[in-house]
Amino acid sequence: MLDYHLHLWPHGTPASQPTLDELAAYCETAAAAGVGEIALTEHLFRFVQADAALAGFWDDDPEPRLRTSLARYWREHAHADLDAYVEAVLEAKAAGLPVVLGLEVDHYAGRMHKVAALLEGYPFDVLLGSVHWVGAWGFDQLGDPVVDAEWESRSIESVWDAYTDALEELAASRVCDVLAHPDLVKVSGRRPAVPDEWYDRMAEAAASSGMAAELSSAGWRKPAAEAYPAPALLTRFRKAGVPATTASDSHGLGDVASRAHDLRALLADVGYETLTSFRGRKPAQVPV
Ligand SMILES: [Zn+2]
Ligand SMILES: [Zn+2]
Repeated sequence: MLDYHLHLWPHGTPASQPTLDELAAYCETAAAAGVGEIALTEHLFRFVQADAALAGFWDDDPEPRLRTSLARYWREHAHADLDAYVEAVLEAKAAGLPVVLGLEVDHYAGRMHKVAALLEGYPFDVLLGSVHWVGAWGFDQLGDPVVDAEWESRSIESVWDAYTDALEELAASRVCDVLAHPDLVKVSGRRPAVPDEWYDRMAEAAASSGMAAELSSAGWRKPAAEAYPAPALLTRFRKAGVPATTASDSHGLGDVASRAHDLRALLADVGYETLTSFRGRKPAQVPV
């Protein structure tokens, strides 16, 4: 098994330089759960380099409350140094830890070429592509009053449409390797009565871009109360020939390799016999 989606820093806490001991502890916890290789995939928006290239993307949104809210969230997060992060993970790799160097890259509407230019030249093994905001609405920041009010004011169909539009643009940009938490839009627990049309679009976006899709236990820790993606979407990925990774999306040691056993069962249910590992952005199939 793999845990190909791991953070070092909980949201709302300052970044600290990762130590070899800290990364070794991640590997030990993963190994104890039967997970033999992990990817460190800190959010791109935690780094000052992203701030320089992408800050202000929220100004495209016509809603001032959302712009202000996302600008504040961004300012709280964009403080770490990407070069130091890369160096720390490479050091762990060189020390023989079963770690690969990754990043969780968001969808930046109309700006994925800027993201590609920013990341060019870095020795990443794997890049996760995520949709965390629709316009300037960080829809998965549940508990933020501005975010929650927006959930009340929009129809669920319009939210799934906007999310899927963003996911399609992200996939078509081919900047990333893995579609992270592909149906994150269900995070609040609200879903369309019949989500098939959106599932079909998500599966087509992954298949036509050549990206892998992530099976993540993080959804069990949210109101959605199921893994990302839903079994019906995972089945579509399988049928469309989309390769898979597994992940916990832990934001600290506590959830590393969380529910790996349950993810394995979901893979077996839909017939996945291999997972996709990455080295230098090149995929390889490994046994589940
Ligand atoms: Zn994410
Ligand atoms: Zn994440």
